[in-house]
Amino acid sequence: MLVHKAKLRGHHLICLNFFRGEGYSEDFIRQIYSVINKEELEIVEGPDEVCARCPYLKEDRCSSSEFTDEMIIHQDEEALRLLGFRPGECTDWRTISEKIPEIIEEWKNLFCMSCGYQKTCFG
Ligand code: SF4
Repeated sequence: MLVHKAKLRGHHLICLNFFRGEGYSEDFIRQIYSVINKEELEIVEGPDEVCARCPYLKEDRCSSSEFTDEMIIHQDEEALRLLGFRPGECTDWRTISEKIPEIIEEWKNLFCMSCGYQKTCFG
C-alpha cells in the first residue's frame, strides 16, 4: 500500500525545498526523494522519517558531526515559528513553498551561513 503522508520535523520542511539530490549517500538520497514525493506532511517533534534512515541518528538523538541534538531541535522550533506551524499539524509542499520567499532571508541568516550544506543548497 502506498503511504502518501510523510512525517517531518520542522527544519526539514525548509531544508528539503533546496535538496538537489547531492551531498548524501545513494540510499539516503532515495529516502529523501520518497519523502519529497509524498502529498501530505504531518509535522512531528524530534526524529522524523528522514532521520530514521540517517547514519547520524543514534538512540533517537541527532549525533551529526556538525550540529548537536539541541541545535537541531532549536532549528526545528525556529522553522515552525517562521512557517507558522505547530507540531501535530498537517500541510503540503505547495503551502510551504508559497511561504519560503517571505522567510528564507531570515532562515539563511539564522542557520545557512554556518551550515556545511550551504553550497549544495544555494550554489
Ligand atoms: S543529520 Fe540529524 S537532523 Fe539531519 S537527518 Fe540526520 S539525524 Fe536527522
